[in-house]
Amino acid sequence: MSEISSIAADLRSAAQAWDESGVEHRIEVLAQWAEVVGERRDDLVAALARDTGRVALSEMEVDWIRTSVARSATWARELIAGETERPSSDPGVTLTAASVPMGLVGVISPWNFPLQLALIDAVPALLMGCTVLVKPTEQCPEFVVPLRETVAAVPELAAVLHFVEGGPETGAEIVRSVDVVCFTGSVATGRKVAAAAAEAFVPAFLELGGKDAALVLPGADLDVAVEGVLWGGTANTGQSCMSLERVYVVRGQEEEFLARLAERAAQIGLVGVDEDGQLGPFIDPRQADVVARQLAAAVEAGARVVAGGQVEHHDVDGRGTRPFLRPTVVTDVDHTMDLMTEETFGPVLAVMVVEDTEEAVRLANDTVYGLSGAVFGPHDEAQAAATRLQAGGISVNDVCLTGMVPEGEKQAFRISGMGPSRMGRASLSRFRRQRVVLTRLAPQVQPWWYR
Ligand code: NAD
Repeated sequence: MSEISSIAADLRSAAQAWDESGVEHRIEVLAQWAEVVGERRDDLVAALARDTGRVALSEMEVDWIRTSVARSATWARELIAGETERPSSDPGVTLTAASVPMGLVGVISPWNFPLQLALIDAVPALLMGCTVLVKPTEQCPEFVVPLRETVAAVPELAAVLHFVEGGPETGAEIVRSVDVVCFTGSVATGRKVAAAAAEAFVPAFLELGGKDAALVLPGADLDVAVEGVLWGGTANTGQSCMSLERVYVVRGQEEEFLARLAERAAQIGLVGVDEDGQLGPFIDPRQADVVARQLAAAVEAGARVVAGGQVEHHDVDGRGTRPFLRPTVVTDVDHTMDLMTEETFGPVLAVMVVEDTEEAVRLANDTVYGLSGAVFGPHDEAQAAATRLQAGGISVNDVCLTGMVPEGEKQAFRISGMGPSRMGRASLSRFRRQRVVLTRLAPQVQPWWYR
């Protein structure tokens, strides 16, 4: 028996007791774990910072565990308490929702928010009575060590949550060994996971890449638009699925917008290199090559870099050099360039001037992706444009709200993903199969049965 099959067998044998222990008990177990995470916060942050080269966002990832457990606990309690007997359209029949856990959930996660994305599906799945096998990214091996220790400190949790290390082969074996797969990563790997899940006949919840657009409409508050677009496109060094990568600015305000964006971009320094630097390195050095290639090809085709643009290499923690890129603003771009059509996943904002809102919406939708986006402008016009975008989560007069307002249920459009919402109450309900018990209150031989 392989290591994965043996772990999967152990997790399956623990499943019934975990389900029968009840939601209040599961909440209590996860709350105990959140306490342990709090006690081990410094170790977890330090390991994650070694993996990723950034500290503040590592703190944010670790602290997210506590809020995620608390929020999901409230929703789990509500959802399970809501499974009561109800009347039906037949006055003699009642309906009782009696859902059951999906079983063993496999989680396969990427490197951009390594800890948070390893747990974002695991926490709701556990609360809803599933057992969970997680394979975090092989690019960030350090944080898993203290994380595993926090789980081991809560034996009841250790029986139902397991982390395995490994690369694509291990991921592929997980798909073959579980009852549902939660995959976060690239479209290319997502396609392989979807095909393997179809072969194994298990559902695959896929959260994939994007090419998010920001629209700057006439009358937009340029202070808000400049600062929002800059942060939304470069936070975590642009290594975020909901990072803004394309900006469509309606003609009339483009010069001021671009000048201010370039000026502000130039003021954001590098972590460990500049005083008060805020932008960390590329977590996966190979991504720097992808970004550099896209930039060079765009420039070759006529694009103009107005801020940043050059990958730099620095050793800021004595662990070897890592690639960095200062916030980069590029203009004179069009949709013949990979920079406007392929996921960049770096701190690059490509700004295109358009004639009107209509053209901004059309170009924003001219993509194979459909994850999220942002619209800046007067309230009514911005909301109207937002509802015409082919993407799952649109922020109006703000950015990346889909990642910050957890109750907003949304799904990925087009090739950005597949499956139910990972946000809101659906983030939990997706981990149970709906079973209904239909009860005839006064048993009788029905007139439509055989006579
Ligand atoms: P990736 O697809 O290269 O790898 C993701 C995970 O899949 C890793 O753990 C890897 O080991 C595993 N894997 C690789 N081949 C596999 C296979 N054949 N079968 C099973 N598992 C396999 O992605 P990455 O480069 O680590 O992450 C970056 C990507 O993730 C970007 O495209 C980004 O947009 C996307 N992402 C999406 C979201 C979202 O919520 N939509 C969030 C974060 C990141």
